[in-house]
Order: sequence, then C-alpha cells, then structure tokens
Amino acid sequence: MSVTVVNPATEETVAELDEAGVEETDAAVARAKEAFPSWRDVAPGPRAAMLRRLATLVEENGEELARLETRNVGKPISDSRGEVGMVAEVFHFYSGAVDKHYGETIPVAGGVDMTFREPLGVVGLIVPWNFPLNISSWKLGPALACGNTVVLKPAELTPLTALRLAELALEAGIPEGVVNVLVGPGRVVGQRLVEHPEVAKIGFTGSTEVGRGVMQAAAATIKRVTLELGGKSANVVFADADLEKAAAAAPYAVFGNAGQDCCARSRVLVERTVLDRFLELLVDAAKGVKLGDPEDESTEMGPLISAEHRERVASFVDGNVAFRGEIPEGRGFWFPCTVVGPVTNEERVAREEVFGPVVAVIPFEDEADAIRIANDTPYGLSGSVWTENGSRALRVARALETGVISVNSNSSVRVSTPFGGFKQSGFGRELGMHGLAGYSEVKNVFVATE
Ligand code: NDP
Repeated sequence: MSVTVVNPATEETVAELDEAGVEETDAAVARAKEAFPSWRDVAPGPRAAMLRRLATLVEENGEELARLETRNVGKPISDSRGEVGMVAEVFHFYSGAVDKHYGETIPVAGGVDMTFREPLGVVGLIVPWNFPLNISSWKLGPALACGNTVVLKPAELTPLTALRLAELALEAGIPEGVVNVLVGPGRVVGQRLVEHPEVAKIGFTGSTEVGRGVMQAAAATIKRVTLELGGKSANVVFADADLEKAAAAAPYAVFGNAGQDCCARSRVLVERTVLDRFLELLVDAAKGVKLGDPEDESTEMGPLISAEHRERVASFVDGNVAFRGEIPEGRGFWFPCTVVGPVTNEERVAREEVFGPVVAVIPFEDEADAIRIANDTPYGLSGSVWTENGSRALRVARALETGVISVNSNSSVRVSTPFGGFKQSGFGRELGMHGLAGYSEVKNVFVATE
C-alpha cells in the first residue's frame, strides 16, 4: 500500500510513500523501547547539545523545510518560513530547559524527601495536517528534553516535513531509534499507538471527535494523554475599542492558514452600538487579503487542504453573506474569504468549527451579554478582547472560559508560554516550561536519616 501526497494548490502529486500498518507500528514502538534506556541516561549537557544542534540544523535547512511545507499544505511561503523559524526556536527553548526541569526537596520528619521528574518511556505523538512541522516540534521538544523516545505519526495528508525532521534529528546526533516517524492512516497507525501496551503516553492534536476516541482507547492501559482539540474562539470587540485596529486585524485571525487553525477567531462579537461601522471596516479589511500561488512571496492565503474539506466548509455558508472574496482560477482547493452576519450564536456557523475562511459576526448588548455569548460553546481554546478600558479588559479576560486569550491582539502562541484548551478543546499544556509536565512523571523519594 502507498500514500499519495498532493499539493492542494495544484492538485499535483508531490510524493508517493510506503504506507505503514500495524506491523510497522509495532516495530517502531519496539525500536523506541530499545532506545529508551540509553537515551534516558544521556547526561543533561549532551542531551541539550543535541537539541541545540537540531535547532541549528532546522535553521540551516529552513528554506528547504518551508518550501516542503508550502507544497504539502498549500500555506503561503511567508507563513511557512515563520513556522519553521518557530520550530527552531522551540528546540532552542527545550535544549535550554533540559537542566532547568528541577525537582524539589520537601521538609518532612525523620529524613529527606525529594522529587525527580522521570521520563515516561515511549510516547506516541499524533499530529494534524494544518501545522504539521510546528505541532510536531511542540511535542518532540519537551518529549526529548525529558528523556522519552518517540513514535511520531503525522497526518497522512502532510507527512513530508516530519520525515525530513527525523533525518535532521539523526544528523544532530540524536541516536537511532529515539525519533521514529510513521506514515499511515490514523484509524490504523494512530489507533495502534493509542492501544499499544508499551506506549506510555499519547500527545494528540486534532479534532474533538477523534480526541474523544483517543481518550476512550487510552483508558484500557491507563495511558497518559494530552489533547489539543478544536475551537470556536470569540474575538470580542467593545464600542470603546480602537475599531480601525480591531477590524484591520480580524481577517488575519480567521483567514490565516485559510481558516484551518484551531485558534481561529471565527466568531466576531461586536457591541451593537458600533455593529454597522465595524462590519463596514471588517469587510474593507477582508477585501485586502491576498489569495494566490502559495509560493508567491506576497500571498497571504492559500487553498484548503482537500476537495473533501472544501465541501464541508461550503456547507456552512447558506445565507446572510456580508462579503465573499475572489478565488484564483484553475486547479487547487480554493475557497473565498467569507464574512457571514450579523447572525445569532445559535446558528450552525456560530456553533461548529468550520476550519475554513468563514467568519460569523454576532452582535451583543453589554459586557455581561458578551461574556455569556463568548462562553456559550463547548469549546474553550483561544480568543481576544478589544477595549481601551483596562479594567474591563482584565475582567473579561478572566471571565472567558478559554485557555489562551489576548487583549488588543489576536496572538495565541508563543514558544515560552503555555498553550492549550478549556472544556472540549482538550487538556494539558504545550510549550513553555508547562509543556514538560506532559512528558514526565513526578517521583517522590524519601531517605531516612535517623
Ligand atoms: P483528525 O482528528 O481527523 O486527525 C488528527 C490526527 O489524528 C491525524 O494524524 C489523524 O491521522 C489521526 N487520527 C485519525 N483517526 C485516528 C484514530 N482513530 N486514532 C488515532 N489517531 C487518529 O483532525 P484533522 O487532521 O482533521 O485536523 C483538524 C482538526 O484538528 C480540527 O478540528 C482542529 O481544530 C484540530 N486542531 C487542534 C489544534 C489544537 O492545538 N487544539 C491544532 C490543530 C488542529 P490521519 O489524518 O493520517 O488519518
């Protein structure tokens, strides 16, 4: 069996790869298990040096990785370059974290009590197609820093950069068997990793639906799981905000990566007194988003990942369209930037994750109403608050049930700060020092001194 990898901007085949199944998954887990004891025992200095070398190799091969990601995912080359830059930063960060992941000493009677952060063993990393290299690094960095060995399963649609990253890991001196990459379907390879008795933990990013299945299957072996799932984040704009600034930024917070972003601010909540003015500004800003050849330096938005996904996205647009942009002619899974609204929070486009360039504008009456609507979703991943009133900014930021929130900004992710969801957006945190907790176990040791 083979896997055909397609460029979503041209619909051309870019690679044919062998498809892994259960047997290959078991073999990869066995390799990772064998490599574990010696990787665990590598002293902090050399382990940090290998991760640092990997970061440098990502930088040195950055243009190749960015081009590969653009051809495989269809994302604009400027975005891919930025993402590869972040991958290098992630490995630099976790190389620095290796010898700063301290235990504690705890005052007790009759002796000394201390804690150690032990690696888990073999960990399975399951990654989606929207940010293949980035999300792989968010998991690999802390997993390797803590001394685990890894079986990484990228999405079958987008395996190319993960395969290249594994080669760079070897070149960096990380021993054979420590990083294993498998290209194969989630329901076979992913499922086997989740069920495998020798896999200690699953770090999963993907849909809430598949994440629920991962959690259920992991229960059989009491496997640890970290779940980074879907989102339906609110971009809350108060009448006292800098409306021009908020409107200019809003399209990029939902049309970035063609909307295929778990942090997409796909619900824009606007205070009713400024609704008309804001909608006008938003539509103007949306008109400025440049779609086109992802390899063109000036392109801001590429196609969707597949024809099947485009059909699903289209099913969300069935009326009350305030703006629909243009798409390039010819082949490729293109979908136009679309502003829908005003709508209520009850409509499907406001409730479900579209995962495409479609934004729903929803009016609210006052601060309490904004908080109520923003929280009226099963998800809780990200979001923004736009206001010039500092007290209100903090009040609302604290009241929103979401893992990551920005004030007068639409950023969600930084290498050194924790990222992850509330509610059905998952649990566990990636990035920053918090990310290490998901790849280590606390051991408590008591030594009697009397
Ligand atoms: P899926 O949940 O379908 O797939 C995610 C990964 O899981 C893929 O590698 C997939 O493999 C694998 N998989 C599929 N079925 C199983 C299974 N039964 N057991 C184990 N693994 C399986 O999500 P998509 O790839 O469609 O990605 C989009 C979704 O991911 C969106 O809903 C989005 O919100 C979410 N996401 C969340 C992020 C976050 O940080 N919270 C970040 C990015 C995306 P394969 O595709 O090869 O079959």
